[in-house]
This record gives sequence, structure tokens and C-alpha cells, in this order.
Amino acid sequence: MGTYHIFDQVSVQDVSDDACYLYNFLNDFGIEIRKKYIDRLENREISFRNLKQEWLDFLISRKFIYEGSLDQDYYSRQAASIEQKLNSTARFTLLPVQYACNFSCRYCYENHELKQRYGMDQIDEILRVIGNRECRWFSVEYFGGEPLLNVRWIRAFQEKLKDQEGFLPSSMTTNAYLLTGGLFSSLADLKILSYQITLDGTRESHDWLRPLASGAGTWDTILNNLKEIRRLDRQFRISLRVNFNSSNSSDEKMEEFFESIKFLENDQRFRLLFRPVGDYSSANGRSSDPDVLAQAGSLQEVQQSFESKALERGYVLADISMFTSAGGAVCYAAKKNSRVIGADGRLMKCTLAVDREINSIGSYKDASADEQKNRLWTFSKDKVREGCKSCVLFFQCLGISCPLKAMKPDSYRCLRYRIDESFLVQKIRKCKEILRTARLNSDK
Ligand code: SF4
Ligand code: SF4
Repeated sequence: MGTYHIFDQVSVQDVSDDACYLYNFLNDFGIEIRKKYIDRLENREISFRNLKQEWLDFLISRKFIYEGSLDQDYYSRQAASIEQKLNSTARFTLLPVQYACNFSCRYCYENHELKQRYGMDQIDEILRVIGNRECRWFSVEYFGGEPLLNVRWIRAFQEKLKDQEGFLPSSMTTNAYLLTGGLFSSLADLKILSYQITLDGTRESHDWLRPLASGAGTWDTILNNLKEIRRLDRQFRISLRVNFNSSNSSDEKMEEFFESIKFLENDQRFRLLFRPVGDYSSANGRSSDPDVLAQAGSLQEVQQSFESKALERGYVLADISMFTSAGGAVCYAAKKNSRVIGADGRLMKCTLAVDREINSIGSYKDASADEQKNRLWTFSKDKVREGCKSCVLFFQCLGISCPLKAMKPDSYRCLRYRIDESFLVQKIRKCKEILRTARLNSDK
């Protein structure tokens, strides 16, 4: 048997004395190989002994290994097929109250004074923008501010969308203060089935970081709402996001947090996402309160600690699909058919750089966008950086995980330096195992 090269997007992990594990980030295949079948494994070259031909064929056909040299166009072909996939669905992010909010979070980057709301007379104009899309399938995400402050409009709009061809389930990013079980259920009837909700660690840290505009705490209400939602007998997906900083990330605080959400354990409808409190305001030329930001230095370690504890308790992590699907880490702003539709009449790309001129690509009044400006944001195979081709996460990120950053020459957000590859592969395996076990239990 000859010597083969291992593709750069295959992670090779030494998992025990007698086995190693190969995970392929291109196609989400993983395989454990006994070391007795490996003759040599060095410098991303591998040769085998006594390996059945069908297994060798499997490794070649699933793009774990190749013989000789890789053809020159390999990466641009793959990037072109991901580009096609990213552009095959239209996504509309709607801001029903622009950036108005009932909360006053300490790290928020939005200007809550911008309180325009969608009126009922705008429903037809927004439907016209959606109707103008290039692709058959489309989805709608409600964002804010706090979108539920205009829930009457959301209900009326979802009613109109329900019967449209190509309409995929909707999603919402909400603080969940108003999201009682009853409201959740009625919105699920209207096909809003997936949510991102933030719960910043313990009651104490959450109430400090995410108070009502009046300053009062919000933890108890959100937790009650989650308990009501948990009791519903229907399918949905909630990603609970925990923003961490020094106020909520000691071992004791982590323990306290996990104990307080114990009622969600073993319910795969709820997933967890852990992120450091970042300097989001800088994207709009403002500065953040330094007391609130997570301290650089141990961010990766703290995130891994949260994640390990979540996995031990049987939670699936919400960012897994970012890493198991091609283009999964590319921001929606890099997708050609993605639009943010503001209540102020603007069509935009990014939900963070809300005050930047570059972010306005047109007006929904005329239902069209400036395609030249849109292209500045959009991923295309011609934008691939040479240096990214050898990266293990190339197919996830394509060098454009944040198109806002990637717009400046020599500036881009690189995921590779924030990620511990071996931990990531373990995390993917563990989440898959949790989901497999849950499936087996539900089949019994
Ligand atoms: S373009 Fe960058 S800053 Fe804007 S939403 Fe995407 S990842 Fe965030
Ligand atoms: S930007 Fe970084 S993580 Fe993304 S593909 Fe390039 S090297 Fe990899």
C-alpha cells in the first residue's frame, strides 16, 4: 500500500494508545482507525498495513486522503459550491421596533432612542421586498431592540407569510421577558420555531448585566417563562446564550448557573452557547464600559470550562452546526440574498454596524438594493485568501466569517487562533453522542 496525503481540512487526533480519530471538516464524517492498521503517520502523510480495500476506498472517496498532488482548482471548486449553497436561500432580518428595547444591557451597542416601528401599512412593502427575491426558499428572523414590543405586527406579518411558497420556519432573537408559554405557543402556531435567548450566568450577574430600562432585575421573569416553555409538548429550538465575564465565570458561579437551569437538562430542544462579553460598540465607533468586558487572556479557557460542564450535564452546544456544516461560520451578512430590513426604511447587511454608512445598501420603499454595495459584503469564490486554503476550518469560515472585518485590506476575523482544534473535535463527537443517545431513547 502506498503513501497518501491527508487533506488539510481533516483533523487527526490521537485518542488512545491504540486508536486515532480523523474528523473531516469538509463533510462532517469522522472515523476511528486502529493504530495496528497504520504503518506510518507523519507530517500529514499516512500509509497503512492490512487495511481492507473497501476502507481505503472509503477514506479516498470521503476526501480524508489523496494520492499524488491535489489538483490546482480543488479549493476554488469547493468554494464555488459553498457559494452556491450560501446563496440558495434568502434571509430577511426584520427589525419590528428598530432598536427600541425594554432592557438596558450594560454591553449593548444599539441606540435605543431609535424607536421607529413597523406599522401595519408597511406589511405590503416588506412583502414586496421578499417577493423580489432571487431564490425560491426564504426565512425570516426577528431582531431588535426587542422585537416582541411589536408582537401585534409580528403576528399579522406571519399570518401573511404562512401561505407563501418557499417559506421556511422563522426565528427570533429576544430577551424573552415577554415570552410567556402562552405567547410562545401562539407564535409557534404561526411558524416561529427557533429562538436565541440570553441568560447571563447567575441571577446576580444576569440582573446586573441585563436589567430592565428601569433598572429592575429580569432573571426571575425569564426563568419562569423558560419553565412554561419547557412544559410545552411541541417541537422548537432555543439557543440559550450566556455572555461571560469575571462576574459570572468562577467555578462556583458556573455551578450556580447550571443548577438554576437544571429543569432544562436532557431536553434537546434547548442548546447552550457561551461567549465572552465583547466590545460590540467599537463596530459603531463607540467604546464599551471596560468593567463589563471579559478580560483577555483566559477567554478560551473559560469558554471551554463552561462548555465541558454543559457537555457533562448532557447539553448539546448551540454552535456545533457552525463547525459541522460547510459555510457554517460565515455570517449571514456575507450571503448575497441576505437583507436586514429596518423600520427606518433602510435595507442593510449587518446587525452590528448599525450606524455605519457602508451598511445601508438601499431602501425597501423601492424594494431593491445597490448590488455594487451588496457585493462588498458578499462572499464569492474569488475572494478566497491563499493563506486560508491550508486552514483546518477553511470550509466553515472561508476567510469571511465577519465580512465587515474582511472588507478592509489585510483585516479579517480568523477563527483558527481562537479555537483549540482538539477540544473542538471532542466537542463535536460528544454532541453527536448526546444526540444519538437521545434519539435511541426516544425510539424505545
Ligand atoms: S458582518 Fe461581522 S459584525 Fe456584522 S453581523 Fe456579521 S459577524 Fe457581526
Ligand atoms: S480566516 Fe482563519 S479560520 Fe478562517 S479560513 Fe482563514 S485561516 Fe481559517
